[in-house]
Amino acid sequence: MAGLDDKLAEIYDEVLRRNTGEAEFHQAVREVLTSLGPVVAKHPQYADSAVIRRLCEPERQIIFRVPWVDDTGTVQINRGFRVEFNSALGPYKGGLRFHPSVYLGIVKFLGFEQIFKNSLTGMPIGGGKGGSDFDPKGRSDGEVMRFCQAFMTELYRHIGEYTDVPAGDIGVGGREIGYLFGQYKRITNRYESGTLTGKGLTWGGSQVRTEATGYGTVYFTDEILRASGESFDGKRVTVSGSGNVAIYAIEKIHQLGGAVIACSDSDGYVVDDNGIDVELLKDVKQHRRARVAEYAELRGQGAHHVGTGSIWEVPCDIALPCATQNELDADDAAKLISNGCGIVAEGANMPCTPAAVRTLTDAGVAFAPGKAANAGGVATSALEMQQNASRDSWTFEHTEERLAEIMRGIHDRCLETADEYGLPGNYVAGANIAGFIQVADAMLALGVI
Ligand code: GLU
Repeated sequence: MAGLDDKLAEIYDEVLRRNTGEAEFHQAVREVLTSLGPVVAKHPQYADSAVIRRLCEPERQIIFRVPWVDDTGTVQINRGFRVEFNSALGPYKGGLRFHPSVYLGIVKFLGFEQIFKNSLTGMPIGGGKGGSDFDPKGRSDGEVMRFCQAFMTELYRHIGEYTDVPAGDIGVGGREIGYLFGQYKRITNRYESGTLTGKGLTWGGSQVRTEATGYGTVYFTDEILRASGESFDGKRVTVSGSGNVAIYAIEKIHQLGGAVIACSDSDGYVVDDNGIDVELLKDVKQHRRARVAEYAELRGQGAHHVGTGSIWEVPCDIALPCATQNELDADDAAKLISNGCGIVAEGANMPCTPAAVRTLTDAGVAFAPGKAANAGGVATSALEMQQNASRDSWTFEHTEERLAEIMRGIHDRCLETADEYGLPGNYVAGANIAGFIQVADAMLALGVI
């Protein structure tokens, strides 16, 4: 099989056989295995103890019914998931995604990615992910609350500070974490702050957690720029999406002197020649829960909405895909290259298709994979866990400094590992190999479990 040596190809075939129809999971596994050839060649102990085969099989997969009553009195049934993938480094850690596209294959791809991402942060957290095919779009506050309560009524028995610590992802923000935590507290009769992260500041949350994924992606990109003696100053940037990750990426880019000229949602994108007004975007998306088309209307001159085509047609120096998986394909990559884009960093999980990544890297574009570039969110979740464990709360400045330090650390570790394996500047190989080795070594130490 192209790109995989025999042993790894055998493992990949087994993953295909055992996980039929889970295309995103296959893609995520293949992406990691493609980097591991030189590692197993150098360290035969990983192959001998079946570490990679064990890594590809989740430790536990939970699927449950979520029945709830909508505003018209109709009973709705959704499916809930929690995949507890790997706990070699710490309790399972990873978000919950509420989106109609969610099925086992999506949760497993996200959980698998999370193992290596969490390892890269250097924090003591394992990998997991969960969610539901529930679609929050157009649902009232009351419906979202009843859904979250029904979801937690099953999930509570599987999670806990030392077991599994969920957080948010697409469709799960502060509001949902509040309803989930409320129901957990009610069922268990315990105020266990460390059971969920992404909490509000008055009930156990951490400063900077809301901003962390977007800020972290921008810090990582800033490190890439610095490595070649550049900065964000005067750079034109496109950021896809307009959710939590995109909004705070835009905010930080503006603080660092760059100009974000486009962002998007599933109905199209807006181009704003004067730079996206992030306060207006927050108002539209977070308060009104409206679409970016409304942003363009309210912003007026200089801004327009485009309902067809792709945001990647907008010329830029740096592109940050911050929406969802497989949103940037090989054609988009070619477009970015022909428009002179030099850096692509993934704020979302696996937003670039494998063909897009090949196209970008072959053309010499610096490419930062999500498991490194967007690790700031989960890293700050680990900081939230630390604060909960010590019943402390840190200042914004202190927490942000910790986040920046962690992102610098991940960046440097990727480059050092890539160098060690003779692949200078290859962030994909660096992230996969460095993330893998730490988990694999812990698994070896813990025996066959
Ligand atoms: N969903 C986020 C991610 O993809 C954050 C997970 C967390 O904070 O546990 O990393």
